[in-house]
Amino acid sequence: MSKFLTEKYQKLKPYTPGEQPKEREYIKLNTNESPFPPSVQAIERAKAEAEKLMLYPDPECKELAGLLAEKCGVTPDRVILTNGSDEVLNFAFMAYCDERTPAVFADITYGFYKVFADLNGVPYREIPLKEDFSLCVDEYMTADGTVFIANPNAPTGLALPRAEIEKLVAANPSRVVVVDEAYVDFGGESCIPLTEKYENLLVVQTFSKSRSMAGARLGFGVGSPALIEDLTRVRYSTNPYNVNKMTMAAGIGALSDEEYFKENCRKIVENRAWTAAELTKLGFALTDSKTNFLFAKHEKLGGEELYQELKARGVLVRHFSSEPIKEYNRITVGSRKQMEILMSTIKTILEERK
Ligand SMILES: *Cc1c(COP(=O)(O)O)cnc(C)c1O
Repeated sequence: MSKFLTEKYQKLKPYTPGEQPKEREYIKLNTNESPFPPSVQAIERAKAEAEKLMLYPDPECKELAGLLAEKCGVTPDRVILTNGSDEVLNFAFMAYCDERTPAVFADITYGFYKVFADLNGVPYREIPLKEDFSLCVDEYMTADGTVFIANPNAPTGLALPRAEIEKLVAANPSRVVVVDEAYVDFGGESCIPLTEKYENLLVVQTFSKSRSMAGARLGFGVGSPALIEDLTRVRYSTNPYNVNKMTMAAGIGALSDEEYFKENCRKIVENRAWTAAELTKLGFALTDSKTNFLFAKHEKLGGEELYQELKARGVLVRHFSSEPIKEYNRITVGSRKQMEILMSTIKTILEERK
């Protein structure tokens, strides 16, 4: 840190992304990336667009926004496109939280919420999950702050039905409720249809996971035209060219290839069920994941230890050291082949301990 950094940033504790080690080839099951390449249409369009990189991208993202709005069943004025969904989340913290309006979120959820609150210098309140990691909807009824809910939640994998989310959106009409649906395509129920009915609901999704485009950085928000106008105001005050030309083209390609997208989601759900059953046989306890990862702990082997043993054998998973979840590991659901290697590696580790 230099002596020049302003005081407000000196105490900032940045988000820790999952490791991306280069020293050896790992089976990477630690950052919830897709094991499948992007759609051929996404790749072809991005390549063609490379020739036009001397020009700025369309700040209105007109073509992509139109296509996306159609997929979501809303009008284009209800959609904002961003550089990953992390960016629209940050815009929501900027737009809807301040000294008098704290951010409110679960104590065990996406780690970035805390970082965005600190970055923007806004207070936050954490609401503890229940013992079984489910979200206590009643405690959000009078949240008195801007609510951020990951649904399905990470790293627990648990999803709330749309009707439950609707209760808390309806109960907080004077506050914005942000529903982060990064994993919704793997078995969750989207709240996008509710955005027509509730002017305080913002739904956030990403192309990173289910559309195999983590490297392109493309996310979006859906909400009332007024909310989208607010967020666009913040966007134009930060970087109107937040979505680059190649990413925009790749996004259009990905949306034009719905078959490929659906087939990949189906494969992940299938591999998730297979892996969950195999892990259960070996003495693991799992949450009922509706995402592209499993959240698992073993009856005998500690969370940190399993993480280290797997890493030593070339399989990377994500371990969090915070107290209530430290015996768990978050394991991305990959290809069937990757899952088979994961299982045989875990079997070896357990055998060696006998
Ligand atoms: C992965 C993830 C995101 C952000 O993804 P982007 O790559 O920035 O689109 C947001 N929320 C949750 C809960 C996630 O797991």
